[in-house]
Amino acid sequence: MKYTLEGHDRDNGVQEMLISLLPDEPHDRVASLPENADGCRSRAWEENGSIFASAQIRMGERHSEITLSNPVPQETDGEEYKRVLTYTVKSAVYQALLPLLDHKPVWGSMTGVKPAKPARLAIREGMDRAALDDYLREHYDVSENRRRLCIRSAEYALAAEDSLLPRETQLYLGIPFCPAKCSYCSFVSNDMTRWGHMIPPYVDALLQEVEAAGELLRTHAIPLGSVYIGGGTPTTLDEAQLDALLSAIHRAFDLSACREFTVEAGRPETITRGKLDVMRTHGVSRISINPQTMNDAVLRGVGRCHTAADIEACYRMARESGDFLINMDLIAGLPGDDDESLLRSVRRVAALEPDNITIHCLARKRGARLYFGATGVLPAETLDRAYAHLEGLGYEPYYLYRQKYMAGGLENVGFCRPGTASHYNICMMEELSDVIALGSGGVSKLCSENGRKVHRVANPKYPKEYLERIDAIAAEKRTLLDR
Ligand code: SF4
Repeated sequence: MKYTLEGHDRDNGVQEMLISLLPDEPHDRVASLPENADGCRSRAWEENGSIFASAQIRMGERHSEITLSNPVPQETDGEEYKRVLTYTVKSAVYQALLPLLDHKPVWGSMTGVKPAKPARLAIREGMDRAALDDYLREHYDVSENRRRLCIRSAEYALAAEDSLLPRETQLYLGIPFCPAKCSYCSFVSNDMTRWGHMIPPYVDALLQEVEAAGELLRTHAIPLGSVYIGGGTPTTLDEAQLDALLSAIHRAFDLSACREFTVEAGRPETITRGKLDVMRTHGVSRISINPQTMNDAVLRGVGRCHTAADIEACYRMARESGDFLINMDLIAGLPGDDDESLLRSVRRVAALEPDNITIHCLARKRGARLYFGATGVLPAETLDRAYAHLEGLGYEPYYLYRQKYMAGGLENVGFCRPGTASHYNICMMEELSDVIALGSGGVSKLCSENGRKVHRVANPKYPKEYLERIDAIAAEKRTLLDR
């Protein structure tokens, strides 16, 4: 949708709202719109102590407009003024667009990628659950189910926050290789058939960075709360490489305070009994085996070379091999999938009784075509049925995030059996503690002021650049906290 701004500079806010409500089309700011042209005109002004915002939206024959206002805030530092202006402008766009939509958005006018974070901060500042529920409904028009997800995730985050040791940090290591690229994937993942020759030098470089990061944390006497090896597909490493990496982590870091050690094994064809043994002997406590769907035709269609039966066999092997907590990822909105197939996948995965189940909604690249079912729309009710099934079996939602261009404007939710919530996932998502990230694509986060301020330091995205710069990256890692 084309849009114009008049009297304000809240371009990001308007963009975010349009992307959130109309994720299937591009949104471009233009200098002006001809009369009666499709598009959104957003205007703001100040009058009699109030900030006013109007939005006029035309979509074909349909037209809607609204004007809202909020009092000018007392604070004079400018930040609160900007916050109220943004909120008023976005709310006006939301209210004007609402009658033109086919479905009411379950997240209302909430656009952030971490919905539980403001909820956690509000509870921390003394707001009780009932008042928070009212606030989410009145200010953002969030549906009842999403308010519940949000508040429950905030409660898990509060508990994780209360359990943190002073200066506790989490460690992430990225293995950006996969057996083959899945058609829907937007991560940097390098197909092994083409890039497999880079794995040995990549592991060597990663060991160098592990040593540097270990030195950093030891110098500053910082305890490590969790380790997470993600990807890509970390089990593209062979047994010897996995053993070398896990041994290096044990040598470099004091793991005495580490409460969780995850390897996101991922695709079943890369998981062997030998690799599971290596993980077990090195104290890995949590693994992921990710079906994405249990529909074989959909798996074939997205370029995965395993079946649902392979997933079940792999799961049984992992259960026999060690006392791992097991997470399983599913994706809603895959090409060729539909409501009933998604629910069958959820039921079949839950029947295995993994400790955690994470349901993602496919995040499309901008402008990509719609997937899912006959209509191309992933209905929130389908996810509600999936969530209800899991909650009926005793799983609880414990962390939550959203992405731009997410199918149906929905969310990703991690479910856990009581007592099995992933500490790393909560800390990383809610920005409760620093995360030191190693490997290409890793983004270290240094958090302050209760996660309100986050300083990010990114490693190069691609392995080639990472290998070329590894000496400098390792040197920087040793001084990351000297700010
Ligand atoms: S296995 Fe995961 S990271 Fe690798 S290509 Fe598929 S979706 Fe992307």
